[in-house]
Amino acid sequence: QVPLKPGRSLMDWIRLTKSGKDLTGLKGRLIEVTEDELAKHNKKEDCWICIRGFVYNVTPYMEYHPGGEDELMKAAGTDGTDLFDQVHRWVNYESMLKECLVGRMAVKPIAAPKEISSALSEEKKQLNGMLPEKKVLHASAEDLTPSYDWFQTDSLITIVIYTKQKGMNAELVTVDCQDRRLRGEIIVDNHSYLVEVDLDHAVQEDLAVNIAEKVGKVEIILKKKDNNHWKMLGQPLENHNTFIKRTDRGLFYRKCKLVSKTEVTHDTKLLCLMLPKTTHLCVPTGQHIYLKQIIEGTEVVKPYTPVLPFLPLDFKEPSHRGGAHIYLMIKIYSCGLFTQALDHLQIGDYISVSNPEGNFKKSQVQTSEDLFLLAAGTGFTPMVKLLNFALTEVSCLRTVTLIFFNKTEDDILWRNELEQLALKDERFKVRFILSQPTKDWVGKQGKISSALLSEFVKRSRKDSKVLICICGPTPFTEQGVQYLKDLGYSQEEIHAFTA
Ligand code: FAD
Ligand code: NAD
Repeated sequence: QVPLKPGRSLMDWIRLTKSGKDLTGLKGRLIEVTEDELAKHNKKEDCWICIRGFVYNVTPYMEYHPGGEDELMKAAGTDGTDLFDQVHRWVNYESMLKECLVGRMAVKPIAAPKEISSALSEEKKQLNGMLPEKKVLHASAEDLTPSYDWFQTDSLITIVIYTKQKGMNAELVTVDCQDRRLRGEIIVDNHSYLVEVDLDHAVQEDLAVNIAEKVGKVEIILKKKDNNHWKMLGQPLENHNTFIKRTDRGLFYRKCKLVSKTEVTHDTKLLCLMLPKTTHLCVPTGQHIYLKQIIEGTEVVKPYTPVLPFLPLDFKEPSHRGGAHIYLMIKIYSCGLFTQALDHLQIGDYISVSNPEGNFKKSQVQTSEDLFLLAAGTGFTPMVKLLNFALTEVSCLRTVTLIFFNKTEDDILWRNELEQLALKDERFKVRFILSQPTKDWVGKQGKISSALLSEFVKRSRKDSKVLICICGPTPFTEQGVQYLKDLGYSQEEIHAFTA
C-alpha cells in the first residue's frame, strides 16, 4: 500500500463513480476491443486494462489505487488478469470499476490448423509405444480427481464424495444449501473439487456432513422435505464436478446473522456471526474470510481473521454442524470505509461471509520446538487460534512467545487474558512493546527492530526447530521478515500473514 493523496480514498472513488461523470471517455458506449487497440492505451494518462475478457479504462482510478499507480501500470495496455489474481483476486473489480467499462475483448481467432494436426500426430505416436512423460503425469493426476455418487432413503439424500485423499477433515469441506441449490466444495492440496446442483426437490433447512478421515470419504446428508422418490439428484450447475486450482475458484458467500457485538478495547470489537443452519464451514487456523457489504451501491470486500470467543486453554470448537459461530475481532477506524459500515450493523442484521482462504499450514507448527508470534495491532488475530492450537495440540513445543506491538497500553487486545494464559502455562510468555507509551509505562518501548528481535527471538537450545509467525501493518511485516533473515533465520522458519 502507498499513502494516497487526500480526497482519494475508496469512499471518494465510490462518490466519483456515482457522480455521472463519463469515466471511460466513450459517453456510455460499450465497444469491442482488439489486442492492438488495447496495447495503444498504455500510458498513465490513458490506461486500459483487460480483466477476464473485459476492458476497463483505469485512467481515472490511478490516484485511488491503494497499491499505487506503478502497480496498476504493470498491466497497462495488456491482459492484467493473472497479475490481478496474484495480488487481490478477492477485490470485486466488476462493482468497483463498472463505470470504467470500455467493453469486451474481441474474440480471438481460432488456433491455426497446424497445431491441430501436430496434436493429432502426437496422439498417433502414443498409440505405437510408451506414453510421453507429460501424458503419464497427466494420467496419474487425473486418477486423483475426486468423484461423487448419491443415494436415497425414504427421508434422506446422501451425497458421497470420494476425495482419494488421506487426512480429509472438516476444515477442508464447505457445504451450503440455499433454497434448492446445493454447493459442496472440498479442498484437496491446492485444488478445489466442487459439487454444485439445483436439487430435484426441496430439502429441509438442516444438513449434516460426515467425514471418514482415513479413506477420504465425505458424506453430505440432506433431509427430504417430502418423502417422495427422487429420479435424479438435480440439474448440474456450471462448475459442477470440476477439480481446479483453489485460487481459480471464485469466492462463495452466504449471509450470516450478527448475534453479538462486545467491546474489546476503546476501538476494537468482538463480533459474533451465526452461520445459517444449512452451511457447514470451519475456518482453519491461520486462515481468513472475506466480508462483503454494499456501501453506497458498490460491493466492498475486506479480509478478516476469525478468532475464538475467549482465550482458554483447551478450547474445542463446538460441533461443526450448521448454526456454528464465527468470531471476529475488528478495529473500527474513525474514517474507515468498511469498519464504519460494520459498526453500524445492528444485532440481527445480516452480512455476507466468504469461504476461508490462506496459505498457513498447521503442519508448520506441528514439528516446531520454539514458536514466536510477532503481532502488531489487529495482526494479533491470526495468533489467537494459533496459540490455542500450539498450546493444546503440539506436544513437541517447548516455548511459545508472543511479542505484541501496540501504540499505547489502551490498544493492547486481550491483555488480561494473555497474562492469565502465561500464568497457567509455563511454556507461554508474552511481551508487550509500545510505540507511543505514556510516561508511566515501565515495559519495553519502540517499534520492530533488529536489536529488539535479537533480544527476544532465541532458540531454546542450539539447533532447536523454530517457527516465527508475523502479522501486522505491511511495513511492520516486511521489516520484521527482513530483520529475521538478517539475523540468520531461513525462509522456512518464517511465516508472514498477508492477504
Ligand atoms: P480503510 O477505509 O481502508 O482505512 C483504514 C484506516 O487506514 C483509515 O484511517 C485510513 O485513513 C487509513 N488508510 C487506509 N489505506 C491507506 C493508505 N493507502 N494510505 C494511508 N492511509 C490509509 N482487521 C481487523 O480489524 N481484524 C482482523 O481480523 C483483520 N484481518 C485481516 C486479514 C487479512 C488477511 C488482511 C489483509 C487484513 C485484515 N484486517 C483485519 C484489516 C481489514 O481487512 C481492513 O483493512 C480494516 O478493517 C480497515 O478497513 P476500512 O475499510 O475500515 O479502512
Ligand atoms: P496500529 O496502527 O495500531 O499499529 C500497531 C503497531 O504496529 C505499532 O505500535 C507499531 O509497533 C507497528 N507499526 C505500525 N506502523 C508501522 C510501520 N509503518 N512500521 C513499523 N511498525 C509499524 O495497527 P492496526 O491499526 O491495529 O493495524 C493492524 C494491521 O494489521 C492492519 O494493517 C491490518 O490490515 C493488518 N492485519 C493483517 C492480517 C493478515 O494479513 N492476515 C490480519 C490482521 C491484521
